[in-house]
Amino acid sequence: MNLHEYQARRLLAGFGIPFPAGEVAATPDEARAIAQRLGRGGPVVVKAQVHTGGRGKAGGVKVAKDAAAAAEHAARILALTINGLPVRQVLIVPAADIASESYVGVIVDRASQRPVLMVSPAGGVDIEEVATSTPERIHRLSVDPRYGLLAHQATTLGFHLYRELAQVRAAADIMQRLYAAFYGLGASLAEINPLATTTGGEIVALDAKLVIDDNELERRPEIAALRDPTAEAPAEVRARAAGLSFIKLEGSVGCCVNGAGLAMATMDLVKFYGGAPANFLDIGGSSSPQKVVAALEIITDDPAVRAILFNIFGGITRGDDVANGIVQATAQVPLKVPLVIRLTGTNEAEAVAILTAAGFSAVTDMDEAVQRAVALARAPA
Ligand code: GDP
Ligand code: MN
Repeated sequence: MNLHEYQARRLLAGFGIPFPAGEVAATPDEARAIAQRLGRGGPVVVKAQVHTGGRGKAGGVKVAKDAAAAAEHAARILALTINGLPVRQVLIVPAADIASESYVGVIVDRASQRPVLMVSPAGGVDIEEVATSTPERIHRLSVDPRYGLLAHQATTLGFHLYRELAQVRAAADIMQRLYAAFYGLGASLAEINPLATTTGGEIVALDAKLVIDDNELERRPEIAALRDPTAEAPAEVRARAAGLSFIKLEGSVGCCVNGAGLAMATMDLVKFYGGAPANFLDIGGSSSPQKVVAALEIITDDPAVRAILFNIFGGITRGDDVANGIVQATAQVPLKVPLVIRLTGTNEAEAVAILTAAGFSAVTDMDEAVQRAVALARAPA
């Protein structure tokens, strides 16, 4: 689950990480009032609150010299759509005088099966570029979750960022708190970028990003309550309501699969045969026709989808349920793109009969189905 920056700041502040006080506005007038109060006549930063990075580059972060300018920037930013997400709120914070920008983040690293702390003296809006073109400027430390991030480890990392001992210590302290927050909140990512030095030599966190592991939400209702469905991609909200695991991707082959493992294998095979999956979608183990209807609606709503691939291995999932779902869904929403169905396992014969009666055909070979779907997705319109 993604959180907004203002929510992440509040949670991280609870772990003792210092952030300048900020408040959220939904209108330019509110922005002006907050800027007046918090900015005390000085400059403020107006920041789009959307679940995506790269807000700065998209024009979603602006320094305003006074409250009137803050209202103007807020009006412009509130009208933006950044990476497909409309901006509904802006955060107003007093502007810091930045001398340098570092990066500090914690992620779960699957290779080492541990949390990994990453720091870079080259923080700021170009951190992705730094990671690809000068990866040696990013320093990593894999953390033993039994002990957490120890003081001497944090200090060593701090020396990669700063020379002055006071700054190294301040950064190390923030890293330890960030790690504690990451662990304590059940996050899969916790990031401060930039961790800035001011012209006065102070170290301040100016941006915060937290992603909470969905599996942690059940035992953290107070964090689950922070979910903002209006800020999430509509397809993901619909998928969650229908009990589907869905992740939107950039390709053109819409995938509808039962089981996360088979869904991953299907995406690999789509790539292997030269295509690109438009989504990850797992309809789950016991699939009712309603789930299949919801899945098809979500997939066909994506204008990038050029072909749809069903890959069903009937175990607990019954082939006839899926077949009925396909027939119902296509009766409600006629398909504009070709559909390829691969289906084997439980009630396979019943499924094939249902599909054939409705004018569809199904294959049993996964390679064949994937190759066909990729070819259809790549065919000129
Ligand atoms: P992101 O682009 O979504 O990561 O948004 P950030 O909150 O990181 O802001 C992007 C950039 O705006 C930062 O890297 C800074 O260069 C700049 N910025 C953010 N806050 C301040 C501030 O308080 N003062 C100044 N001068 N610049 C800021
Ligand atoms: Mn940032």
